[in-house]
Amino acid sequence: MKIVILDGYTENPGDLSWEGFEKLGDLTVYDRTPADKIAERIEGAEAVIINKTPLSAETIAGCPTLKYIGVLATGYNVVDVQAAKDRGIPVCNIPTYGTAAVGQFAIALLLEICHHIGEHSQSVHNGDWESCVDWCYWNYPLIELDGKTIGIIGFGRIGQTTARIAQALGMKVLAYDQYENKSLESDTMKYTTLDDLLAKSDVISLHCPLFESTQGIINKDSIAKMKDGVIILNNSRGPLIVEQDLADALNSGKVAAAGLDVVSTEPIHGDNPLLKAKNCIITPHISWAPKESRQRLMDIAVDNLEKFLAGKPQNVVNS
Ligand code: NAD
Repeated sequence: MKIVILDGYTENPGDLSWEGFEKLGDLTVYDRTPADKIAERIEGAEAVIINKTPLSAETIAGCPTLKYIGVLATGYNVVDVQAAKDRGIPVCNIPTYGTAAVGQFAIALLLEICHHIGEHSQSVHNGDWESCVDWCYWNYPLIELDGKTIGIIGFGRIGQTTARIAQALGMKVLAYDQYENKSLESDTMKYTTLDDLLAKSDVISLHCPLFESTQGIINKDSIAKMKDGVIILNNSRGPLIVEQDLADALNSGKVAAAGLDVVSTEPIHGDNPLLKAKNCIITPHISWAPKESRQRLMDIAVDNLEKFLAGKPQNVVNS
């Protein structure tokens, strides 16, 4: 079987092995594929594996040998799944692989806001401690989380993982989700309405998927309902936030700080208002990317293709 991976670099920049795929066929891996090279590179391929490279109806139609599409991610919106289905081609994704890493990263953003460890270390290396008249100093207000309330919007796998770490730090959890699993409630975790969560939380962390109903859920009206000095975290999807509204609230001090791993357009555009907003930490969509998570993703992607070859496809999103 001829297998082509069109954009393998972010999954495996060199610290993992493609050997699982190599065992299943004749493998070609491209780090990245520009739009005008897709058709040429998948010519004659039976299995095409992508991460973010689009596979349109036209591209699929132009590859008569194609039998299988694998996605190295959970989201598969880059593939025309209906066009694939019409040809009887299964599109297989990775439903979950990085829950622990993404929950950990949400709290890492929060701890960075609370302590600015990286910047304090840089300041020490720059000589500021050596020349300090006092025995210690800090360049930002430091924040203790014990006893504070974190509001989690979207209490699924990652939301619950984030909550468990927050509880270990002594935080109380308020959760808002369309579907409440009351068995998860405890002395330190309660479901509530969105408005109540907005009004009572010291920290608000977004963990719902991007749907029409959640797009722009953080906007000037919802921010107005929050406590003054609230902290906002988002490592779910950028469009959950109306970025100009958050930038305005950061600049006015209504929102004390934000920690973001995702933005509305990725890579970020130079004119994104959050780049110049006060107290805004932005990382380049890396919550998912520890080696352990990428290895899990690789293992499931290989298993998906193996199961397809055995006539028992799994994780099919267009059945
Ligand atoms: P999940 O499906 O387990 O949980 C999502 C939860 O959101 C569910 O409980 C669902 O009921 C809830 N929800 C859906 N619509 C809602 C609404 N309108 N209001 C409130 N809650 C709503 O998914 P998960 O594995 O926890 O992942 C959550 C999100 O994390 C993903 O959708 C993705 O956007 C994001 N993510 C980001 C990265 C990264 O690297 N930054 C990696 C993986 C996932």
